[in-house]
Amino acid sequence: MKIIMLGAPGAGKGTQAKMIADKYSIPHISTGDIFRANIKNGTELGKKAKTYMDQGLLVPDELTVDLVIDRVSQDDCKNGYVLDGFPRTIPQAESLDAALTKLGEKIDFAVNVEVPDENIINRMSGRRACLSCGATYHIVHIPTKVEGICDRCNAELVLRDDDKPETVKKRLDVYHEQTQPLIDYYSGKGVMVEVDGTQDMKDVFADIVKILGA
Ligand code: ADP
Ligand code: ADP
Ligand code: ZN
Repeated sequence: MKIIMLGAPGAGKGTQAKMIADKYSIPHISTGDIFRANIKNGTELGKKAKTYMDQGLLVPDELTVDLVIDRVSQDDCKNGYVLDGFPRTIPQAESLDAALTKLGEKIDFAVNVEVPDENIINRMSGRRACLSCGATYHIVHIPTKVEGICDRCNAELVLRDDDKPETVKKRLDVYHEQTQPLIDYYSGKGVMVEVDGTQDMKDVFADIVKILGA
């Protein structure tokens, strides 16, 4: 099963994508996590990506598309995957489609996690991220057992540089302008489904499972 997660920054794509990946035993591919790992390791890609990410802008398609297409062409993606944070522009979606067509494959579901902008700033200021294992928490809604420490790997949690309110506002603008058009794009392909992302995370997941099938 090949799944794309759509939704505003902070809608809960990553949270749901991890649960989907666990339940259906498919890889979770997050472009944000890939960029953050590159930044942490000081790679050339990381250095380039950081200048855009810190401003709340998208990393250019030239730096993003090949990376994802290489990843979904690997053997562990044969039975499917959940793409989280990609595609984010129409050209990215078109490049993905072209690559999948060549492989004789297609996207089965694009899941839009709907959360109004008003809720997003609050979600982001409470988000805490583990840069070691990619886990994400919320200080109020999804707390860790020990404050500031990752439940999964015991690393220290951070507030992402791009989760500050000024940057979040910019990211929301970028989302509406460049990413939201993908909803029409995937609707046109007949694979678009929507869930109410303002619910408790378990209820959001239950709605997704109803759609994807047990
Ligand atoms: P969020 O979890 O808030 O949706 P991500 O972790 O997915 O954020 O992405 C963080 C940042 O990484 C984005 O603001 C953007 O700068 C960059 N990024 C991630 N995925 C892409 C992509 N597909 N195209 C361009 N930039 C991306
Ligand atoms: P995205 O990947 O779309 O940017 P995340 O999955 O990182 O979003 O979630 C953003 C923040 O909101 C995180 O702090 C996360 O723990 C929290 N969160 C995720 N889902 C819910 C939910 N259903 N209710 C409340 N908070 C949530
Ligand atoms: Zn961790």
